[in-house]
Amino acid sequence: MLLVAEPVLGVEERSAVMDVLESGWLTQGARVREFETAFAECHGVEDAVAVANCTAALHLMLKALGLGPGDEVLVPSLTFAATVNAVLYAGAVPVLVDVESLEAPLMSLEDAESKVTGRTRAVMLMHFAGHMAEKDLWRDFAHRHGIMLIEDAAHAVGGPGAGSYGEAAAFSFYGNKNMTTAEGGMVLMRDPSLLEQARQMRSHGITRSVQQRLVSRSPHYDVGMLGYNYRMDEIRAAIGIVQLSRLEDMAAQRARLVALYQEGLQDLCGQHEGLVVPKPRSGLSAHHIMPIVLPKQIDREDVIARLHDGGVQTTIHYPPVHMLSHYRAQYPSVRLPMTEEFAQRELTLPLHPKMEDSDALLVMELLETALEGILALA
Ligand SMILES: *Cc1c(COP(=O)(O)O)cnc(C)c1O
Repeated sequence: MLLVAEPVLGVEERSAVMDVLESGWLTQGARVREFETAFAECHGVEDAVAVANCTAALHLMLKALGLGPGDEVLVPSLTFAATVNAVLYAGAVPVLVDVESLEAPLMSLEDAESKVTGRTRAVMLMHFAGHMAEKDLWRDFAHRHGIMLIEDAAHAVGGPGAGSYGEAAAFSFYGNKNMTTAEGGMVLMRDPSLLEQARQMRSHGITRSVQQRLVSRSPHYDVGMLGYNYRMDEIRAAIGIVQLSRLEDMAAQRARLVALYQEGLQDLCGQHEGLVVPKPRSGLSAHHIMPIVLPKQIDREDVIARLHDGGVQTTIHYPPVHMLSHYRAQYPSVRLPMTEEFAQRELTLPLHPKMEDSDALLVMELLETALEGILALA
């Protein structure tokens, strides 16, 4: 079965994990620090804070930025539930914003403009599919309204400009992301003192880590703020350090496959009206996933089944957050027509660095046959 996503793991990761086990120190320590430094360097910043997952990273950055009850945060609904949940954890109010179009399924500037109120404190961009949001446009928007610009950069590890848009960014190393530590996340913040706050909040707000106390031979510590246990461990950090060293290669493979897909699908679009292949308006991408939009009259379940029969897994990104029952109950009146249309017709094709050109060609061949088969029946 050709999977939608698959991590690249080799002998280097295996031996890095073994080294940790043999060292006898498993919890947050020197390797976590090394991973943070390497990740920061790779994203062109001074420092970073590694955490248990991206959801924790989102929560910490919102807390460090001082967002809380009464504050509104503009967020997309075409995202993973974690984006919205983090805002709710902080006690702030998520304001769900529509996407621009089927071709450009990132947050709509126009809809965002219409949803700014006196309580809006931040806008959280999500680089859907790895398609980088238009930086200047959103910086200008945030500046004009006097609000903070933040990134859910879960789709954009290593992406051009990722983490440099505004006040803070959160990254994910979940197993299906551009690089993985199994579970893991990272926080970047423009203000070093806020990054230090996030670092303290990562471990119960404790002023000195277990390692620092060990090194200084003093057991004393204080708790300066309400914190959480959002720590990363040495095993994950060790994997992360190796994965970072592979990131450039993996990104090149992703870019090559996306170019191949774009070329092949362009021909298919010529034959099938209503078939859409989204592209980043910014022209920049981390190539995280390969979404397409099926023609309206095509039964998506049928396409999924036909590709599955051909040995190809596909998936859907995303059921919009406002359509999921928990949020639907809380926000019954939210309607986001473009998000809903996109989500009804979207199909995610396999994209990962282990794929050969022939895999992408097979996917497109099966897709073409499926579309023709379905139309012949209609
Ligand atoms: C994966 C993902 C997250 C959550 O990441 P975790 O590391 O699993 O917590 C958040 N937002 C988006 C857009 C994601 O794709």
